[in-house]
Amino acid sequence: MESQKKFPPTFSFELFPPQTPEGVEKLRLTRQQLARFNPKFFSVTFGAGGSTRERTLETVLEIQAEGHVVAPHLSCIGSTQQNIRAILEKYYEAGIRHIVALRGDLPSGMAQAGEFRYASELVAFIRQEYGSSFHIEVAAYPEYHPQARSAQADFDNFKRKIETGASSAITQYFYNADAYFHFVELCESAGLNIPVVPGIMPINKFSQLVRFSDTCGAEIPRWIRKKLESYGDDSESIQAFGLDVVTGLCEQLLQAGAPGLHFYTLNSANLTSAIWQRLNLHAH
Ligand code: FAD
Repeated sequence: MESQKKFPPTFSFELFPPQTPEGVEKLRLTRQQLARFNPKFFSVTFGAGGSTRERTLETVLEIQAEGHVVAPHLSCIGSTQQNIRAILEKYYEAGIRHIVALRGDLPSGMAQAGEFRYASELVAFIRQEYGSSFHIEVAAYPEYHPQARSAQADFDNFKRKIETGASSAITQYFYNADAYFHFVELCESAGLNIPVVPGIMPINKFSQLVRFSDTCGAEIPRWIRKKLESYGDDSESIQAFGLDVVTGLCEQLLQAGAPGLHFYTLNSANLTSAIWQRLNLHAH
């Protein structure tokens, strides 16, 4: 873990592009609240196949105009090189130099695979077209990606993303710190000297967490699942217990030398702010 240590650690906040004018307004408030923590960047998700293309772009440009560093996500599955080039060009012209490069998952009913099969091909494409202009983040899976043929094949893919030019990584969320520590050890053994920032999912609603976790392959440890189940509809207790669990995880990660934390905020500042305050972190 020594290779990961960074002082001070960096923090970033993930947002998704809102669908309604109310959502846009709410997101502005969320950003104002989170901006107090002086994040390294805000990131904005992008629906594969271009489903959120315009909304992502609008949100990204608004954040950039507010003077924050913004890292747009870019999912390549279902897209042509021409589409991806056009998006990158808009970002480049707007002065954006940080991209989260992903494969994405095709929405059900959309059969077109497009010109990119894997995130590593997108990373290679960005480097080919823009040289070192962009800082490129990629996704890492300490508990392995659900479609991976094997743990080794998944790690080999991660390695390929770094070798084709990714600068750093953000992990899928997890509640078991050992999975992250093991992943970082694998990186060290493979000579991959890039920051791997843990992705942190605050616990809000049990049903929502189960749904996300089933799709993305993140494990909810049995003891956490059982406790959350036992609270039934008592959302206050779920959130209070979730705050304890997630704050404890963040403490453990930072103490062990994680280079920072990336929060999946789901466009709400409350839980992320509460975790931040409990961690007694300072804005740098
Ligand atoms: P890849 O790295 O391409 O891997 C996908 C799968 O293919 C893995 O199982 C891998 O092992 C396998 N694989 C890769 N290369 C090969 C090969 N050459 N041969 C055989 N198998 C191979 N999704 C969105 O749609 N929009 C977002 O904004 C978004 N943001 C995310 C942010 C983070 C930090 C994370 C962790 C995930 C995000 N996702 C997002 C979800 C992500 O798109 C999905 O997890 C998707 O299924 C995989 O994307 P990837 O970039 O990790 O794909």
